[in-house]
Amino acid sequence: MIKITVAKGDGIGPEIMDATLEIILAAGANVEIEEIEVGEKVYLAGNTSGISAESWDVIRRNKIFLKAPITTPQGGGYKSLNVTTRKFLGLYSNVRPCMSLHPFVRTKHPVMDIVIVRENEEDLYAGIEHQQTDEVVQCLKLISRPGCEKIVRYAFEYAKQQNRKKVTCFTKDNIMKQSDGLFHKVFDEIAKEYPEIENEHWIIDIGAAKMADTPEVFDVLVMPNLYGDILSDIAAQITGSVGLAGSANIGEECAMFEAIHGSAPRRAGQNLANPSGLLQGAIMMLNHIGETAVAEKVQNAWLKTLEDGIHTYDIYKEGTSKQKVGTKEFAKAVIANLGSKPNQLKAVSYAKNTALKLPKYKKKQAAVKELEGVDLFVHWNGTEANELAQIVQKIEFDQIKLTMITNRGIKVWPEGFKETFCTDHWRCRFKPTMGNKMTKNHIIDLLSRCLENNIDNIKTENLYSFDGNPGYSLGQGQ
Ligand code: NAD
Repeated sequence: MIKITVAKGDGIGPEIMDATLEIILAAGANVEIEEIEVGEKVYLAGNTSGISAESWDVIRRNKIFLKAPITTPQGGGYKSLNVTTRKFLGLYSNVRPCMSLHPFVRTKHPVMDIVIVRENEEDLYAGIEHQQTDEVVQCLKLISRPGCEKIVRYAFEYAKQQNRKKVTCFTKDNIMKQSDGLFHKVFDEIAKEYPEIENEHWIIDIGAAKMADTPEVFDVLVMPNLYGDILSDIAAQITGSVGLAGSANIGEECAMFEAIHGSAPRRAGQNLANPSGLLQGAIMMLNHIGETAVAEKVQNAWLKTLEDGIHTYDIYKEGTSKQKVGTKEFAKAVIANLGSKPNQLKAVSYAKNTALKLPKYKKKQAAVKELEGVDLFVHWNGTEANELAQIVQKIEFDQIKLTMITNRGIKVWPEGFKETFCTDHWRCRFKPTMGNKMTKNHIIDLLSRCLENNIDNIKTENLYSFDGNPGYSLGQGQ
C-alpha cells in the first residue's frame, strides 16, 4: 500500500477529487489516502501561504501529493500555494500531456498528441525583482546548468519511457545568448545520449506559432519556465478544453499531481464540473508510483466513456455528445467502463513503462574564471550619451577605461544614433587597456570615484570569462 497525500481544495475541488478517488479505488489502486486541508480556509484563517506546518510534514513524509485546485484570495499578500510547493519541494519538472479526442471532443486540431515538459523552478520565476531608477525595473532571469540538465534529461527519459519519437526544444537564444543559449547548449549535449530519439530546436516565437497551427508535427516539447507556462495553456486549450488536462510536478524526492484548471468557484457545489483534468493527474500519479496496470485500466475506461458520448456540460455538444451528465454520473460511467477499451480512440498500454533513469546532478569541475571588466549601472536623468560619457570618464584611470555605454542594452556611446530613445538607466562598461588586468580593487576604486564625483551608481555586474569564453553579452550594435 502506498500512502499518498490528498487535498480536496476549493470550489469544484472536493467534487472532482471525490469522483477521481472513487474511480481509481474502484480500479484497484493500491493507495492509502491521508487528507490535509490547504487553500482558502487556511489563507483566510491568517496563514498567507495557505498551508500549515503540520500539512507540510504530511506532504514531505508521504512524498506523493494529489491536489485539487484551490482558490487564492485576491490581494492581501497571499502567496500562490502552487508556486511555493514547487519551489520548496524542488519539483523541477512540470509535465503536461495535451491530446485531442477527435471526433468526440470538438477541436480545430484533430491530430494532436503532444507533451510539454516545462522547467518549473528557474527563469524569471525566481521572483528577484528590483526597481533601480525612476523609470526602470528589472527582473532577473536565472538559468542554471543543473536546472537545464535535469529538465532536458527528464524530457528525453520521458520520451523513451512513453515510446515517443521526438523531443523539440524551444528557446529564444538568438536574443538571450547566455541564458537561453545555455538551455539550448545543454539540450544539444544531452540529445546525443539518446540517438534513437529525434531532436530539434526551434526559436520559441515561430515554434509557438507552429504549435498553435500544426501541433501534429510535435511530440515531446521541452522549454524554460515562462515559455512552458504560456505554451502549455495554449496547448491544452486547443485540444478542445482546459478541463481535460492534468499535470505532474516531479522532483528528485517528491511529486505533486493536479488538474491544470482552477477552482471554478461559479460551478462549485452543483455536480457540474468535469473531473477529467484531475483524473488525468491521478493517472500520471499511478504511473509514477508503479501502479501502471491500474493507470492503464482507468485511462482506457475514461477514453471509452468520452467515446460513448457521456459528457459533462463543458464538452457537451449537440450532435456528437449522447448524454449530458454531472460529475458523479460521469464517474459512475467511467467505473462501469473499467476493463473496456475505446474502439476509435487509441487505447493506451503502460505495461512496458519502466522507471525513468534520472541520476542526481554531478557538479562539474570549476572553469578557469577571469575578471575581464565591469558594467557599472548609473541612474542619470540626462538624454545625451556623449554628455554622460564625459561625466563617467572622470572616474577612469590609466589601466581601466570606459569602453561603451548602453541604454536598455542598445549601444549609445561611442557612435550612438540620436534616434535611440533613452531612459534614466545607463550601463557603463569598463575594461582594462591592452596589457593590463582587471582586479576587484579596480571595481572598488571605480565605485569610490563615483561617490566622489556624484555619479549615482545603482549596481555593478562583473564581466568574467570562463575557460577563455566571455560570459557576458555584447551591447546591441557593438
Ligand atoms: P478556472 O480554471 O477555475 O476557470 C476557467 C473557466 O473554465 C471557467 O469558466 C470554469 O467554469 C471552467 N472550468 C474550469 N475547470 C472546469 C471543470 N473541471 N469542469 C468544467 N468547467 C471548468 O480559472 P479562473 O476562473 O481564472 O480561476 C478561479 C480560481 O482558481 C482562482 O482563485 C485561481 O487563483 C484558482 N486557480 C487555481 C489553480 C490551482 O490550484 N492549480 C490553477 C488556476 C487557477
